[in-house]
Amino acid sequence: MEVFTSISALRIFLDKCRATNQQIGLVPTMGALHDGHVSLVKAAREQVQIVVCSIFINPIQFNNKEDLDKYPRTLDQDCEALERAGCSAVFAPSADEMYSTPPELKMHFGNLETVMEGASRPGHFNGVGIVVSRLFNIVQPHYAYFGQKDLQQVAVINRLVRDLAFSLQLVACPTLRETDGLAMSSRNARLNADERALAPFIYQVLTEAKKQLLNGCEISRVIDFAKEQFGTKDAFKLDYFEAADATTLQPIRQLGSEGTNAICAAVYLGAVRLIDNIVF
Ligand code: AMP
Repeated sequence: MEVFTSISALRIFLDKCRATNQQIGLVPTMGALHDGHVSLVKAAREQVQIVVCSIFINPIQFNNKEDLDKYPRTLDQDCEALERAGCSAVFAPSADEMYSTPPELKMHFGNLETVMEGASRPGHFNGVGIVVSRLFNIVQPHYAYFGQKDLQQVAVINRLVRDLAFSLQLVACPTLRETDGLAMSSRNARLNADERALAPFIYQVLTEAKKQLLNGCEISRVIDFAKEQFGTKDAFKLDYFEAADATTLQPIRQLGSEGTNAICAAVYLGAVRLIDNIVF
C-alpha cells in the first residue's frame, strides 16, 4: 500500500493505474478509522482494482472549533487497518497541500441544506461539497463510496455529482453498528464510560419510532414520543429528530413506499454530537 501526502505524487501513481485500464474507487474519510470505514474499503475492493482512501480532517466543514480540535487523529493505526482491508493507496494531505489557496467558492444545495445537518451546522455542506469536489478532481475515481450513516451527505453528494457532471458512480453503503446497536463513529472514542453505556439508546429510540410508524401511528406523535424519550435522560440533549424522505430529506407527513422513508436523529451526549438514522 502506498501512502501519499502530495497531490502530484498521487496523480502520477493514478495516471499509471489508468494507463493499464485499472478502475479506481475512492473512499473519502477523516481518519480515526473503524469497521464502518473498513466496510467501505471492502465494498470498493470488490468492484475495482485500485482503492484510494483519503484521510483528511477537512477544517472548512467544521462549524465548531472544539469539534475540529478534538477530532481523533490516528494515522498510523488507520494505515494498518487500511492495508489489512486491501486498500491500494492512502492520500493523507496536510491542510496546506489540500488548500494551497483558501477556497472562496461557496456551494449551496437548496432544500437539502435547510434541514437537519444543514440547518444545525451552517456552512457544513459547503465545506463537504468543496473537499469532495477537490478529491473527485484529484483522484478522478470511477466509483466513490459513502456511508448511509451520513444520509444527508449522500444526498448532497448525489446532487453535486449530478449538477457538476462528475463522471463517476456513487455507492451508498449500509451503516455498521456495534453489537449493542450504536452506529460506529470516530466520535464514539470521545465518549466517557458512562456516556458510552448510554449511547445505544439513540438507536433504540430510532428502532422504536420506526416500529410505531410501521404500525400506523401518526408521524407527529411518534416524533413527540422520541423527543420525550430523550428528555427522560439528563445526559442527552436532542438536536433534532425528524421523519423525512430518504432522498430529498424533506419532512414527510405520511410514509412513502418501502425504502423511501428515513428517521434521523442528532443528539448531544455530553459534549459529543452523534447522528444516526434508519431508512425503511
Ligand atoms: P467520516 O470519516 O466520519 O467523515 O466518514 C467517512 C465515510 O465513512 C463517510 O462516507 C461516512 O458516512 C462513512 N461512515 C462513517 N461511519 C460509518 C458506519 N458506522 N458505517 C458505514 N459507513 C460509515
